Amino acid sequence: MKNMSRKDAKFERKTRRFFLASSSSPSRLCVKLLLLLLCLSTTLAQTNPKPGSHSTRVRPSMSAETKALIEDAIGVVCTQAKLDPKSSIAIDEMQARPSLPVTSPDARAGAERAQRLLPVAKTLVISSLRQLAIEYGFQDSPKFKVKLRLAIARVSEVRRVKPDMEARDNASVYLSHPHVITFGTLFLAGLRSDEGMISVLAHELMHVADGDNDSLRTLVAAVGNKASDLTGLEIHGQRSEEITCDLIGAMSVRAYIVSTPDYESIARRLARSIQHNCVELDEGDEDHLSPRNTIRTILALNAGLVRELINDRF
Ligand SMILES: [Zn+2]
Repeated sequence: MKNMSRKDAKFERKTRRFFLASSSSPSRLCVKLLLLLLCLSTTLAQTNPKPGSHSTRVRPSMSAETKALIEDAIGVVCTQAKLDPKSSIAIDEMQARPSLPVTSPDARAGAERAQRLLPVAKTLVISSLRQLAIEYGFQDSPKFKVKLRLAIARVSEVRRVKPDMEARDNASVYLSHPHVITFGTLFLAGLRSDEGMISVLAHELMHVADGDNDSLRTLVAAVGNKASDLTGLEIHGQRSEEITCDLIGAMSVRAYIVSTPDYESIARRLARSIQHNCVELDEGDEDHLSPRNTIRTILALNAGLVRELINDRF
Protein backbone atom coordinates (compact mmCIF):
# COMPACT_ATOMS: atom_id res chain seq x y z
CA MET A 1 0.00 0.00 0.00
CA LYS A 2 1.29 3.41 -0.87
CA ASN A 3 -0.18 5.05 2.16
CA MET A 4 2.81 7.25 2.73
CA SER A 5 1.66 9.50 -0.08
CA ARG A 6 -1.90 9.60 1.09
CA LYS A 7 -3.82 12.08 3.15
CA ASP A 8 -7.18 10.86 4.27
CA ALA A 9 -10.34 12.65 5.03
CA LYS A 10 -11.37 12.52 8.62
CA PHE A 11 -13.30 9.39 7.74
CA GLU A 12 -10.06 7.47 7.51
CA ARG A 13 -10.76 6.75 11.17
CA LYS A 14 -13.62 4.54 10.18
CA THR A 15 -11.62 2.69 7.57
CA ARG A 16 -9.11 1.98 10.27
CA ARG A 17 -11.75 0.61 12.58
CA PHE A 18 -13.01 -1.52 9.70
CA PHE A 19 -9.54 -2.95 9.14
CA LEU A 20 -8.93 -3.55 12.80
CA ALA A 21 -12.22 -5.35 13.13
CA SER A 22 -11.17 -7.80 10.44
CA SER A 23 -9.00 -10.72 11.39
CA SER A 24 -6.46 -10.17 8.63
CA SER A 25 -3.07 -9.37 10.10
CA PRO A 26 -1.61 -7.83 6.87
CA SER A 27 -4.34 -5.19 7.01
CA ARG A 28 -3.50 -4.56 10.62
CA LEU A 29 0.13 -4.13 9.68
CA CYS A 30 -0.78 -1.66 6.93
CA VAL A 31 -2.83 0.34 9.37
CA LYS A 32 -0.02 0.41 11.89
CA LEU A 33 2.40 1.45 9.17
CA LEU A 34 0.07 4.23 8.12
CA LEU A 35 -0.22 5.41 11.72
CA LEU A 36 3.53 5.35 12.10
CA LEU A 37 4.04 7.37 8.94
CA LEU A 38 1.41 9.87 9.93
CA CYS A 39 2.92 10.21 13.39
CA LEU A 40 6.38 10.58 11.89
CA SER A 41 5.35 13.32 9.47
CA THR A 42 3.50 15.01 12.29
CA THR A 43 6.54 14.91 14.54
CA LEU A 44 8.72 16.33 11.78
CA ALA A 45 6.18 19.08 11.22
CA GLN A 46 6.24 19.99 14.87
CA THR A 47 10.00 20.23 15.17
CA ASN A 48 10.12 23.33 13.04
CA PRO A 49 7.95 26.00 14.62
CA LYS A 50 7.77 29.36 12.89
CA PRO A 51 7.51 32.81 14.44
CA GLY A 52 4.00 33.86 15.21
CA SER A 53 2.76 30.34 15.85
CA HIS A 54 2.85 30.09 19.58
CA SER A 55 5.65 31.75 21.46
CA THR A 56 3.91 34.91 22.67
CA ARG A 57 0.27 34.03 22.21
CA VAL A 58 -2.29 34.95 24.77
CA ARG A 59 -4.27 31.84 25.61
CA PRO A 60 -7.89 32.35 24.64
CA SER A 61 -10.63 30.69 26.60
CA MET A 62 -14.41 30.49 26.50
CA SER A 63 -16.95 31.83 28.95
CA ALA A 64 -19.69 29.59 30.30
CA GLU A 65 -22.13 31.59 28.19
CA THR A 66 -20.16 30.94 24.99
CA LYS A 67 -19.96 27.24 25.81
CA ALA A 68 -23.73 27.14 26.31
CA LEU A 69 -24.29 28.90 22.96
CA ILE A 70 -22.07 26.34 21.24
CA GLU A 71 -24.09 23.49 22.76
CA ASP A 72 -27.29 25.19 21.54
CA ALA A 73 -25.80 25.48 18.06
CA ILE A 74 -24.85 21.78 18.10
CA GLY A 75 -28.47 21.10 19.01
CA VAL A 76 -29.59 23.03 15.92
CA VAL A 77 -27.17 21.14 13.66
CA CYS A 78 -28.21 17.71 14.91
CA THR A 79 -31.93 18.54 15.06
CA GLN A 80 -31.72 19.64 11.44
CA ALA A 81 -30.11 16.27 10.71
CA LYS A 82 -33.50 14.73 11.55
CA LEU A 83 -35.76 17.40 10.00
CA ASP A 84 -33.96 18.34 6.79
CA PRO A 85 -34.74 16.03 3.84
CA LYS A 86 -31.34 16.93 2.37
CA SER A 87 -29.40 16.45 5.61
CA SER A 88 -26.09 14.58 5.49
CA ILE A 89 -26.18 11.03 6.83
CA ALA A 90 -24.17 10.60 10.04
CA ILE A 91 -20.85 8.88 9.41
CA ASP A 92 -21.54 6.02 11.82
CA GLU A 93 -24.76 5.34 9.95
CA MET A 94 -22.95 5.45 6.59
CA GLN A 95 -20.41 3.02 7.93
CA ALA A 96 -23.08 0.50 8.86
CA ARG A 97 -24.43 0.35 5.31
CA PRO A 98 -23.37 -2.16 2.65
CA SER A 99 -20.98 -0.88 -0.05
CA LEU A 100 -22.64 0.87 -2.96
CA PRO A 101 -21.72 0.11 -6.58
CA VAL A 102 -20.43 3.04 -8.64
CA THR A 103 -23.33 2.52 -11.04
CA SER A 104 -26.07 2.81 -8.39
CA PRO A 105 -28.35 5.84 -8.92
CA ASP A 106 -27.46 7.44 -5.56
CA ALA A 107 -23.71 7.06 -6.11
CA ARG A 108 -24.03 8.42 -9.64
CA ALA A 109 -26.04 11.41 -8.47
CA GLY A 110 -23.46 12.07 -5.75
CA ALA A 111 -20.55 11.80 -8.19
CA GLU A 112 -22.24 14.22 -10.57
CA ARG A 113 -22.89 16.62 -7.71
CA ALA A 114 -19.29 16.44 -6.54
CA GLN A 115 -17.84 16.94 -10.02
CA ARG A 116 -20.22 19.83 -10.71
CA LEU A 117 -19.31 21.54 -7.43
CA LEU A 118 -15.56 20.98 -7.63
CA PRO A 119 -14.82 24.29 -9.45
CA VAL A 120 -16.85 26.35 -6.97
CA ALA A 121 -15.33 24.45 -4.03
CA LYS A 122 -11.85 25.30 -5.30
CA THR A 123 -12.69 29.00 -5.48
CA LEU A 124 -14.27 28.90 -2.01
CA VAL A 125 -11.30 27.10 -0.46
CA ILE A 126 -8.86 29.61 -1.90
CA SER A 127 -10.80 32.57 -0.49
CA SER A 128 -11.36 30.82 2.86
CA LEU A 129 -7.68 30.01 3.11
CA ARG A 130 -6.77 33.65 2.45
CA GLN A 131 -9.29 34.72 5.09
CA LEU A 132 -7.94 32.25 7.63
CA ALA A 133 -4.36 33.44 7.00
CA ILE A 134 -5.47 37.00 7.77
CA GLU A 135 -7.41 35.93 10.89
CA TYR A 136 -4.28 34.25 12.25
CA GLY A 137 -1.94 37.12 11.37
CA PHE A 138 0.05 35.47 8.57
CA GLN A 139 -0.84 37.94 5.84
CA ASP A 140 2.36 39.99 6.19
CA SER A 141 4.82 37.11 6.37
CA PRO A 142 6.75 36.99 3.05
CA LYS A 143 7.62 33.32 3.63
CA PHE A 144 4.01 32.40 4.24
CA LYS A 145 2.88 34.38 1.20
CA VAL A 146 5.09 32.23 -1.04
CA LYS A 147 3.73 29.06 0.57
CA LEU A 148 0.17 30.28 0.19
CA ARG A 149 0.70 31.05 -3.49
CA LEU A 150 1.99 27.52 -4.08
CA ALA A 151 -0.84 26.05 -2.02
CA ILE A 152 -3.39 27.93 -4.12
CA ALA A 153 -1.71 26.69 -7.30
CA ARG A 154 -2.04 23.09 -6.03
CA VAL A 155 -5.74 23.57 -5.32
CA SER A 156 -6.26 25.07 -8.78
CA GLU A 157 -4.82 21.93 -10.35
CA VAL A 158 -7.40 19.52 -8.89
CA ARG A 159 -9.54 18.34 -11.80
CA ARG A 160 -11.54 15.28 -10.97
CA VAL A 161 -13.62 13.38 -8.44
CA LYS A 162 -13.18 9.64 -8.74
CA PRO A 163 -16.00 7.51 -7.29
CA ASP A 164 -14.71 4.39 -5.56
CA MET A 165 -16.88 1.63 -4.13
CA GLU A 166 -14.07 0.21 -1.98
CA ALA A 167 -13.47 3.58 -0.33
CA ARG A 168 -17.02 3.30 1.10
CA ASP A 169 -17.57 6.29 3.40
CA ASN A 170 -14.13 7.86 2.95
CA ALA A 171 -12.78 10.60 0.77
CA SER A 172 -9.05 10.81 0.17
CA VAL A 173 -6.36 12.56 -1.77
CA TYR A 174 -3.40 10.44 -2.77
CA LEU A 175 -0.62 12.95 -3.00
CA SER A 176 0.94 10.91 -5.80
CA HIS A 177 -2.21 11.87 -7.79
CA PRO A 178 -2.92 15.34 -6.48
CA HIS A 179 -5.36 16.24 -9.26
CA VAL A 180 -7.91 13.65 -8.15
CA ILE A 181 -10.15 13.39 -5.11
CA THR A 182 -11.12 9.78 -4.46
CA PHE A 183 -14.59 9.59 -3.03
CA GLY A 184 -16.27 6.50 -1.57
CA THR A 185 -19.68 5.83 -3.11
CA LEU A 186 -21.39 5.56 0.30
CA PHE A 187 -20.06 8.99 1.13
CA LEU A 188 -21.10 10.43 -2.24
CA ALA A 189 -24.62 9.15 -1.64
CA GLY A 190 -24.72 10.24 2.02
CA LEU A 191 -24.00 13.91 1.32
CA ARG A 192 -27.38 14.86 -0.06
CA SER A 193 -26.94 18.61 -0.44
CA ASP A 194 -24.61 20.96 -2.25
CA GLU A 195 -23.56 22.34 1.13
CA GLY A 196 -22.65 18.90 2.52
CA MET A 197 -20.70 18.08 -0.64
CA ILE A 198 -18.83 21.40 -0.73
CA SER A 199 -17.80 20.92 2.88
CA VAL A 200 -16.10 17.57 2.17
CA LEU A 201 -14.62 18.70 -1.15
CA ALA A 202 -13.18 21.71 0.66
CA HIS A 203 -11.76 19.46 3.40
CA GLU A 204 -9.90 17.40 0.79
CA LEU A 205 -8.78 20.49 -1.11
CA MET A 206 -7.28 21.85 2.10
CA HIS A 207 -5.18 18.66 2.33
CA VAL A 208 -4.08 19.33 -1.25
CA ALA A 209 -3.24 22.93 -0.32
CA ASP A 210 -1.06 21.71 2.54
CA GLY A 211 0.64 19.32 0.14
CA ASP A 212 3.05 16.51 0.84
CA ASN A 213 5.44 18.73 2.79
CA ASP A 214 2.80 20.12 5.15
CA SER A 215 3.73 23.51 3.76
CA LEU A 216 0.94 25.33 5.64
CA ARG A 217 1.99 23.82 8.96
CA THR A 218 2.45 27.17 10.70
CA LEU A 219 -1.14 28.17 10.01
CA VAL A 220 -2.40 24.67 10.79
CA ALA A 221 -0.49 24.65 14.11
CA ALA A 222 -1.88 28.07 15.02
CA VAL A 223 -5.42 26.82 14.41
CA GLY A 224 -4.69 23.70 16.47
CA ASN A 225 -3.25 25.73 19.33
CA LYS A 226 -6.23 28.04 19.44
CA ALA A 227 -8.60 25.09 19.23
CA SER A 228 -6.79 23.37 22.11
CA ASP A 229 -6.92 26.49 24.27
CA LEU A 230 -10.59 27.11 23.60
CA THR A 231 -11.83 23.57 24.09
CA GLY A 232 -9.29 22.07 26.48
CA LEU A 233 -8.91 19.16 24.04
CA GLU A 234 -5.52 18.00 22.74
CA ILE A 235 -5.47 19.26 19.15
CA HIS A 236 -1.96 19.07 17.75
CA GLY A 237 -0.14 17.36 14.88
CA GLN A 238 -2.45 15.54 12.47
CA ARG A 239 -5.48 16.52 14.53
CA SER A 240 -4.66 20.18 13.80
CA GLU A 241 -4.61 19.49 10.10
CA GLU A 242 -7.90 17.62 10.19
CA ILE A 243 -9.66 20.32 12.18
CA THR A 244 -8.24 23.02 9.89
CA CYS A 245 -9.59 21.09 6.90
CA ASP A 246 -12.99 20.89 8.60
CA LEU A 247 -12.90 24.57 9.47
CA ILE A 248 -12.09 25.49 5.86
CA GLY A 249 -15.00 23.24 4.86
CA ALA A 250 -17.44 25.12 7.11
CA MET A 251 -16.07 28.53 6.06
CA SER A 252 -16.43 27.56 2.40
CA VAL A 253 -20.05 26.53 2.91
CA ARG A 254 -20.81 29.75 4.74
CA ALA A 255 -19.41 31.78 1.83
CA TYR A 256 -21.34 29.59 -0.62
CA ILE A 257 -24.62 30.28 1.21
CA VAL A 258 -23.99 34.03 1.06
CA SER A 259 -23.40 33.85 -2.69
CA THR A 260 -26.41 31.60 -3.44
CA PRO A 261 -29.37 32.81 -1.36
CA ASP A 262 -32.52 30.68 -1.54
CA TYR A 263 -35.73 29.97 0.38
CA GLU A 264 -34.14 27.62 2.91
CA SER A 265 -32.96 28.96 6.27
CA ILE A 266 -29.28 29.80 6.64
CA ALA A 267 -29.12 27.58 9.73
CA ARG A 268 -30.46 24.57 7.83
CA ARG A 269 -27.97 25.05 5.01
CA LEU A 270 -25.08 25.79 7.35
CA ALA A 271 -25.87 22.72 9.47
CA ARG A 272 -25.25 20.52 6.42
CA SER A 273 -21.58 21.49 6.44
CA ILE A 274 -20.92 19.67 9.72
CA GLN A 275 -23.90 17.45 10.41
CA HIS A 276 -22.34 14.20 9.16
CA ASN A 277 -20.71 14.37 12.62
CA CYS A 278 -24.04 13.99 14.46
CA VAL A 279 -23.21 10.40 15.38
CA GLU A 280 -24.53 8.07 18.05
CA LEU A 281 -21.19 6.28 18.36
CA ASP A 282 -18.87 9.18 19.21
CA GLU A 283 -15.31 7.89 19.03
CA GLY A 284 -12.08 9.63 18.04
CA ASP A 285 -8.48 8.51 17.69
CA GLU A 286 -5.03 10.08 17.84
CA ASP A 287 -5.44 11.76 14.45
CA HIS A 288 -9.05 12.82 14.76
CA LEU A 289 -11.26 14.29 17.41
CA SER A 290 -14.48 12.40 17.94
CA PRO A 291 -17.18 13.57 15.49
CA ARG A 292 -19.16 15.49 18.11
CA ASN A 293 -16.01 17.13 19.44
CA THR A 294 -15.21 18.03 15.85
CA ILE A 295 -18.47 20.00 15.61
CA ARG A 296 -17.80 21.56 19.02
CA THR A 297 -14.30 22.65 17.99
CA ILE A 298 -15.29 24.09 14.61
CA LEU A 299 -17.96 26.16 16.35
CA ALA A 300 -15.50 27.27 19.07
CA LEU A 301 -13.15 28.48 16.33
CA ASN A 302 -15.80 30.36 14.40
CA ALA A 303 -18.27 32.42 16.42
CA GLY A 304 -20.02 33.57 13.24
CA LEU A 305 -21.21 30.02 12.58
CA VAL A 306 -22.66 29.77 16.09
CA ARG A 307 -24.50 33.08 15.69
CA GLU A 308 -26.02 32.12 12.36
CA LEU A 309 -27.04 28.65 13.51
CA ILE A 310 -28.83 30.06 16.52
CA ASN A 311 -30.30 33.26 15.06
CA ASP A 312 -31.52 31.82 11.76
CA ARG A 313 -32.82 28.52 12.98
CA PHE A 314 -36.44 29.24 11.97
ZN1 LIG B 1 -8.72 14.85 6.30
